[in-house]
Amino acid sequence: MGRRIVILGAGFGGLELSTMLSEALGDSVEVTLIDKGDSFVFGYSKLDVLFGRATPEAVRLPYRELAMPGVRFLRETITAIDPEARRVSTDAGAHEADVLVVALGADYDFDATPGLREAGNEFYSLAGAERLATVLPTFSKGRALIGVCGAPFKCPPAPSEAALLLHDHLVERGVRESCEISFVIPLPSPVPPSPETSRALLEAFAERGIEFVPERRVSSLDSERGVALLDDGSEMPYDLFLGVPKHCAPEVVVASGMTDEVYVPVDPRTLQTRYPGVYAIGDVAAIGVPKAGVFAEGAARIVAQALIAEAGQGEQPAGYEGRGSCYIEFGAGRVGRVDVDFLSGPNPTGAFKAPSAALVAEKRHFGSSRRARWFDA
Ligand SMILES: Cc1cc2nc3c(=O)[nH]c(=O)nc-3n(C[C@H](O)[C@H](O)[C@H](O)COP(=O)(O)OP(=O)(O)OC[C@H]3O[C@@H](n4cnc5c(N)ncnc54)[C@H](O)[C@@H]3O)c2cc1C
Repeated sequence: MGRRIVILGAGFGGLELSTMLSEALGDSVEVTLIDKGDSFVFGYSKLDVLFGRATPEAVRLPYRELAMPGVRFLRETITAIDPEARRVSTDAGAHEADVLVVALGADYDFDATPGLREAGNEFYSLAGAERLATVLPTFSKGRALIGVCGAPFKCPPAPSEAALLLHDHLVERGVRESCEISFVIPLPSPVPPSPETSRALLEAFAERGIEFVPERRVSSLDSERGVALLDDGSEMPYDLFLGVPKHCAPEVVVASGMTDEVYVPVDPRTLQTRYPGVYAIGDVAAIGVPKAGVFAEGAARIVAQALIAEAGQGEQPAGYEGRGSCYIEFGAGRVGRVDVDFLSGPNPTGAFKAPSAALVAEKRHFGSSRRARWFDA
């Protein structure tokens, strides 16, 4: 029997890791990939659904179409993880592993922001984006508030993108002049590791009359009065709230004892946790890189290379460097890009590529290439 590698979570990280193991090792190892969902959705597709650019059905990539020979996919909900014994319990049974990789992503802590669940206006889950997509066409006057309820949050540019795309949406409907757009974020600038990107976004907000409120977090919502309470005690009235919920590690990971303050501490070069044979990659890991798919994928590649080298093929990787490129929707059909490097130098850097039509095509290729690599699609 080959080594038993059990991967928890078939998101960005889990999919890339399983694909690399399948390509390099085939049947010589036993790879089991477990997810509670029936499909994968790119994070940015939620913005497409929110603004009616795609239907929820069109953005779901069903796991039944996974293209990974030798990988066993199980649709099960993980209910307990024992990192010392490398044993996982699910709603369908138990799995023992020689190597366990936790790639369960970040969850949303709705209870941290009283009123958010009741108001129901978040666009960070597919269901939330789908719901807001039905509300948006009814919004024709007043203030739309894009509010971030806690940091760190997935894909730091995403709420800025939402503000710019909302502007376009309101212009197209001919109601922009009777609407205000405000954007509240608990960070000093839209994308702190990249001053250039932040500058370009601030210019785009100013050109479009979007109010930017930095270093403020939405701490609660009073949907009856239509008011958001900010963490400095001030109030901001709204007619439409588009929220980014506070993030947290999935409950099952917290219950396993693997987390430190919030997420799972790992060696940032190897992604190993303090438990032998147990790795954590992607949004669930506390590593200091942004919570984004490209970083989850990069971390997955390091773990894959290490496991492939242990199986006698190839070299051990040099170490994770925390590099990745994120595409940013600037509205008006243009996309920009920020190339961030978190770990290789003394300080994080973020080079900016100005919005262009060429980058629209590049972003499309980013999605279609992963789709083709991970799925028979
Ligand atoms: C609006 C928005 C826009 C974004 N845009 C971008 C972008 O342009 N570029 C980019 O790189 N990133 C983007 N992201 C971020 C990106 O989606 C995430 O950072 C990325 O998916 C993280 O990958 P992961 O593998 O760590 O976790 P995930 O992809 O979240 O996967 C975790 C998996 O674990 C499964 N799971 C969780 N708990 C359990 C359980 N108990 N049992 C079984 N399965 C479980 C989940 O079903 C899920 O499939 C965006 C996110 C949002 C919300």
